[in-house]
Amino acid sequence: MSIHERYRLSVVINAKGTFTPLGVSRSSDGVATAVAQALPEFFVMDELGDRASEAIAQVTGAQAGAVVHCTAAGITLAVAATMTGGDSRRIAALPDATDMHHRVVMPACHVVDYGHSNLQGIRLSGAQVDLAGDETRCSIGDLEEELDGPDVSCLFLVSSRLTQGEPLDLVAAVRAAHRRGVPAIIDGAAQFPRIADLLATGADLVLVSGQKYLGSPTAGLVAGTWPLVQAVRAQEKGIGRVMKPTKEAIIGVIAALEEWQAFDRMKWEADELAKVLAFAEAAARIPEVSAEVVPDPTGLQVSRVLLKVKDAKRVATELEAGVPPIYVMTDRVADDELMLELIPLDADEIATVLARLWAILT
Ligand SMILES: *Cc1c(COP(=O)(O)O)cnc(C)c1O
Repeated sequence: MSIHERYRLSVVINAKGTFTPLGVSRSSDGVATAVAQALPEFFVMDELGDRASEAIAQVTGAQAGAVVHCTAAGITLAVAATMTGGDSRRIAALPDATDMHHRVVMPACHVVDYGHSNLQGIRLSGAQVDLAGDETRCSIGDLEEELDGPDVSCLFLVSSRLTQGEPLDLVAAVRAAHRRGVPAIIDGAAQFPRIADLLATGADLVLVSGQKYLGSPTAGLVAGTWPLVQAVRAQEKGIGRVMKPTKEAIIGVIAALEEWQAFDRMKWEADELAKVLAFAEAAARIPEVSAEVVPDPTGLQVSRVLLKVKDAKRVATELEAGVPPIYVMTDRVADDELMLELIPLDADEIATVLARLWAILT
C-alpha cells in the first residue's frame, strides 16, 4: 500500500515548482536512506552541526555553515546573529532588542511573500525593518540613505523570482553596507545551485533552502563568515530553540550535499532541457495552444514551459479539479499564460499532464 493510500492522502502532480503547500521537492533514494538510518540513532548534536558546517563550507566555499529549521527560520536567526554576535546575555534577551542595534535595512522591492511576509521573518528576531526605495526601484543611493546612522544591524537582500521592480546590483549593495560597517545577508532560498555566486557578492551570510533545489529534508542552510555562522548556531540557546533542525534533517542535508558534488551537473541540465523542449513541442500540437521554453529569470540553470491558452484561469482550475490534481504556476493567468516546471516529473506524469491538457482544451 502506498503512503498516500495508507493515510488517505491525495496523489498530486506538481508542475508548480518548489512549492511549500505541495511538499516542495522529491528527495533521492540516497537521501531517503540516510534519513531513515539517522532516525533510530542518537548523536552528539553539536558534532552533527560541525559536520554539516564542514560539508556546507566544502560545497559553497564559505568559511562555515549551519543548518536551521528552514529558510524562513534562517532569516530570523541570521538577523538575530547580527544583533547579538556571540553575547549569551543578548541571545537570551531576544526578541527584546532594546539595548542592541536593531534596525534592518532592506530594499522595498525585496519585500516578498512566500507564505508569510519576509518582513515578519525579520521582525520575529526583535529587529525593526526600514525599507529603502520603493516597489519599483531601489538605487544604491536609496540604500545608503537608509543605512545612515549608528543603529543598523544588517542589510537584508533577496534573490528570487518573487522580487519586484528593477533588479538590484547585489555586489554594489553589499559594498554599500560594508562601507558603513554593516553586515549583509542574502536570502536566496530557491537559489541553492547559485549559492557560490551569491557568496561571491561579498555577502556575510547567504541563506538557501535545503528542500527546494537541493532535495534534502526541510532545512535552511546558512553559509558565510565564521563568526556570524557561530552566532547563528548560538541562537539555539535563545529564539533558535523553536527553529532547530532535526537530526534526520541535518543528516539528509549532508547526504544531499555529497550527492550534489558527485553528480554530473552538465548531463542533468541537458536532460532537463530536453524534457522541457519535448514537452513544449508536444503541447504546441494542441489546437490554439502555443508553447515556449523560458529560462529562469534569476539565472538558475532551469527552464520552464510557458503555455499560452485561451481562458487560462479556467484551464488551471480544471487541471486542479481533476484526478490526479495537476498544479501549474498561475501568476500569469490574467495574461492567459500558464507556466510549468517539469524537474520533479517522470515520463508517466508528463504524459498525464499532456493528456489532461488535450482533454480540457479540445
Ligand atoms: C521559499 C522561500 C523562503 C522560505 O523558505 P522555507 O525554507 O520554506 O522557509 C524564503 N525566501 C524566499 C525568497 C523563498 O523563495
